[in-house]
Amino acid sequence: MQHGADVDVLVIGGGQAALATAYFLRRTGLSFRLLDAEQGPGGAWRHAWQSLTLFSPATWSSIAGRQMAPTPGYPTRADVLAYLSAYEAHYAIPVERPVMVESVTRDGDRLVARAGDRRWAARALVSATGTWRNPYVPSYPGVGAFRGEQLHSAHYAEPGHLAGKRVLIVGGGNSGAQILAEVSRVADTTWVTQQPPAFLPDEVDGRVLFDRATARWRAQQEGRVPDAPAGGLGDIVMVPSVREARERGVLRAEPPFERFTADGVAWADGRTAPFDAVIWCTGFGPATAHLRSLGIVGPDGRVEVTGTRSKQCPGLWLVGYGDWTGAASATLVGVTRNAKAAVDEIRETLE
Ligand code: FAD
Repeated sequence: MQHGADVDVLVIGGGQAALATAYFLRRTGLSFRLLDAEQGPGGAWRHAWQSLTLFSPATWSSIAGRQMAPTPGYPTRADVLAYLSAYEAHYAIPVERPVMVESVTRDGDRLVARAGDRRWAARALVSATGTWRNPYVPSYPGVGAFRGEQLHSAHYAEPGHLAGKRVLIVGGGNSGAQILAEVSRVADTTWVTQQPPAFLPDEVDGRVLFDRATARWRAQQEGRVPDAPAGGLGDIVMVPSVREARERGVLRAEPPFERFTADGVAWADGRTAPFDAVIWCTGFGPATAHLRSLGIVGPDGRVEVTGTRSKQCPGLWLVGYGDWTGAASATLVGVTRNAKAAVDEIRETLE
């Protein structure tokens, strides 16, 4: 067994959540290191589709310490990748990659991460592995017999190979709307959503989602029942591509179908429709398989936490997984306060 570095704090992940955590760790004097499975900086943004547009302006899409440069419109995937790469270099954040951590175990008062025959021991461990590596696809009767292509949004890059085909897009969030807007320009698309899709007003953008999440977070911090928000946290932001799709009359959603047939889907009312491909824009679960070895991961992939700290494994913190680890923690603008809270607690605990 090869010994990697023994450090005070080990951070698993190298995306925005890990970088924001590293920013605050640099200020504590604790030794730390990041282990990231990617070949280079940027986390999940490395895998997002080419035309992905953020739903908040650059000034609302930065993590602690460094402002994203203003962009003509909403930042693109390329803008975010350039920003995160420059951020990692600017702060000279110590990242070992590619390292895919397979397990984390307790060893006395240490936590030990393992990847192949390598091991790293630390006094505290932060898991910041995001969700991209755990795409969620709902199960439907007959899906095994469906002869068409299936693709999750996590693996969708651009619409080229779908040109001229009949494409079913499932999911009513920002991914679904943006991918529908793009694919409908080259293919015959049908959109299926659980509920009728909720669109934010044109003049409002992702900041309002952040404000809603913050209001809910503040209420939780103060022990109040959060007011029912004016809208959902996943409402669709009318970025230019989605507005353009609306002008083309594309944003019409069908209710959920009942089952797959060999060449398409069937609804409960007897309607059927043929499809050559299905794109699942049905979200993600937390990428926490590496923590199963601690026996603390629930069936939904979550870990019981108080704030960002594991209840069952006090030397473990989780940053960036979405609301269950802190309101808006899965967004660039929201992850900073959760990363700072985690590092403040780690410093108090270790020092
Ligand atoms: P990730 O970026 O997924 O980084 C996790 C890192 O950990 C990756 O590098 C991964 O390889 C690594 N990793 C995973 N498992 C292991 C392991 N076992 N060992 C070692 N390394 C591991 N956010 C916004 O703020 N604004 C937006 O407008 C916005 N739009 C979005 C649109 C879409 C369609 C999607 C899907 C997401 C959007 N997001 C947006 C959310 C944002 O992209 C993600 O939530 C963000 O990437 C999360 O960052 P993270 O660091 O938590 O995780």
